[in-house]
Amino acid sequence: MDSTAVKADLAHVLYTKEEIQARVAELAAQIDKDYEGRDILVVGVLKGAVMIMADLVRALKSHLTMDWMAVSSYGSGTQSSGVVRILKDLDSDLMGKHVLIVEDIIDSGLTLSWLKSNLESRGPASVEICALLRKPEAAKVEIDVKYVGMDIPNEFVVGYGLDYAEKYRNLDCVGTLAPHIYQ
Ligand code: 5GP
Repeated sequence: MDSTAVKADLAHVLYTKEEIQARVAELAAQIDKDYEGRDILVVGVLKGAVMIMADLVRALKSHLTMDWMAVSSYGSGTQSSGVVRILKDLDSDLMGKHVLIVEDIIDSGLTLSWLKSNLESRGPASVEICALLRKPEAAKVEIDVKYVGMDIPNEFVVGYGLDYAEKYRNLDCVGTLAPHIYQ
């Protein structure tokens, strides 16, 4: 059903459920190929990456384990500060592991850049990043992201894990909010 209450709050759908699912399947095929014969420790960044994690790991055929981290970077505003606080750390030891960080969106890149060096300092064999969305125009730091779903314009988006005031994470598509919701 497309006429749900949450979908009615969208101004514009950027990617439909089908488009997201197709792209996630392509990313999974690439990751399987790149990690052939190696186990992956897939690290999801809470809460936004929950949807992409769930879909990506089910599309992957490699042996893998999953772990979760929660970090805060935005505080109450909408601008990343670059100051990252760990709210929930990993349960796993990263020593010698092939770590794949899974994130919902890269905006300034500050959160992931911090997270990648933090995880790299724990002795893993490798650390790569997979993000569903990236806003190239918003980048403040250069960050090497091996797997990107889609590049999007510098607009605030919700859905498929991404929230506005904790709502809209349950949308199966990604879109922009109608102005009357946040004005
Ligand atoms: P960065 O440190 O790259 O600026 O921020 C990354 C985090 O900011 C993402 O994990 C996400 O939680 C949040 N964020 C950045 N852009 C958006 C957006 O367009 N929509 C939503 N809902 N969250 C965003």
